[in-house]
Amino acid sequence: MTNGSKGPDGSTNGGSQSQIAEAVLDHVRSLVPEGFDCELTLDASLLELGLDSMTRMDVANHLEESFSIRFSEESLYDMETCRDLVECIEETISERDSGRHASRPAVPEQSAEAEAPEEREVLPEYSDVELFPECVAFQQRLATAAAAGFTNPFFRVNERVNKAISTIAGNEVVSYTSFDYLGMANDPVVTSAAKEALDRFGSSASASRLVGGDNTILEDLDREIAQFVGTEAAIVFPSGYGTNASVFGHLFGADDLILYDELAHTSIMQGSLMSKARRRSFPHNDIEFVDNLLKDIRGRHRRVVIAIEGVYSMDGDYPDLPRLIEVKRRHQALLYVDEAHSVGVMGPNGRGICEHFGVSAGEGDIWMGTISKALGSAGGYLAGRAMLIEYLKYTTPAFVFATATSPANAAAALAAVRLATKEPERAARLRDRAKLFLTLAQQSGLNTGNSKDTPVIPIIIGDSLRCLRISEGLLQQGVDAQPILYPAVPESASRIRFFITADHTEEQIRRTVKVLTECIAASKDA
Ligand code: PMP
Repeated sequence: MTNGSKGPDGSTNGGSQSQIAEAVLDHVRSLVPEGFDCELTLDASLLELGLDSMTRMDVANHLEESFSIRFSEESLYDMETCRDLVECIEETISERDSGRHASRPAVPEQSAEAEAPEEREVLPEYSDVELFPECVAFQQRLATAAAAGFTNPFFRVNERVNKAISTIAGNEVVSYTSFDYLGMANDPVVTSAAKEALDRFGSSASASRLVGGDNTILEDLDREIAQFVGTEAAIVFPSGYGTNASVFGHLFGADDLILYDELAHTSIMQGSLMSKARRRSFPHNDIEFVDNLLKDIRGRHRRVVIAIEGVYSMDGDYPDLPRLIEVKRRHQALLYVDEAHSVGVMGPNGRGICEHFGVSAGEGDIWMGTISKALGSAGGYLAGRAMLIEYLKYTTPAFVFATATSPANAAAALAAVRLATKEPERAARLRDRAKLFLTLAQQSGLNTGNSKDTPVIPIIIGDSLRCLRISEGLLQQGVDAQPILYPAVPESASRIRFFITADHTEEQIRRTVKVLTECIAASKDA
């Protein structure tokens, strides 16, 4: 830790050490979620204070603004306590002042109403994209990985896809990267429907649904998705990500609270960031925590929404829906469930997480899902009570101001919903294949984390470099599976993730687990 370049008043062009500490504690205090009684000291862990990674980023952004500094990307990952923040600010100020770090000129912390920002020198990195520090740092990271001999596992280009088989770099491999859970994307019924729609409506919807882009296929799709998941109504959005990112800011405002599972998808967190509501995460699947929190603070808010997923796509586990419904009802909260990985997948007929637990969709409030996974297409949907859906149809920004799902995509999804309804044996086969993979992996002594009853199966390795080696080894043996690395997951939880589909044969699964076990063993010796 440095003391920075102190002026006569002990300031470091942005504040003395105690001023910095005070600013950090003040800001962190304002963000500590209600109900958290962990003592706020310099050594308090930001995580234990209830600040999830997104909120920690907010803290860093705010402090960068306040002290006119820019933290290095690496230092952002290391900030675990308030003291880390204070030390990092001091060091960054000191580097800036000694000219080692180009930065904005120092300005004292200002209130939002303060006068306009001071004039600043326009540095080359402000106007030349190739000098953006984040781009430069990223290039360096890629170069370091390449120099260390690692082949980039991302953006593996598929030259052809035929059910579970992909052609990559001229070689046929069994792919476990696709969430085409029910094997719809290559089904001739689905692809023919897409081709017919292309001939009938052209390649684009060419307008937002509200103002000219609607068509009979989309109207049928809305209705049949609602029937499939058991709600009064549904509307299909052009993007699943956009659905989550748009609807939270749209429905929840300043007096509201958005409570989301800490492992919820980024689009849910983005959506809550767009909202003026207070937001906070809760420990993964910890319903007791939600219950206790709401006992304390429910009364301080207008709407409270609990946002969860039907199946979690990193871990392959799922929430105790009936218990959550009981909690949400008791506290008069709303329940938002993202069924991206559970629709088509969970329940005897693949109708989703409600069917799995035997509860009615009417017990929840907003059912979000995507047509991008089990339904073999691309896009999202919101389903629920007819009156709410009608309102969202006329007002949700990502629906109203976005070009509709293309006719071919809509037709593919519609054909897929119909096939999923007519052929529930697809969901049953998926369940069997997933169970076979999980059982064989566990019998081989592999760590499958919390995965249970779902086609998402992580193999936890706990070492990003080994994950890279294993994934590369698998590819050489004709198996494509993605490594999931820090910072997407904590280093100790880095993993290879397998998505099982109804198209995987038993033979492919048996061979894969054998090859995987060998690659893992080989990676220990490397
Ligand atoms: N929610 C979850 C849980 C997801 O996993 C994803 C993407 N994989 C999305 C939403 C975004 O959906 P889409 O890919 O259809 O935009």
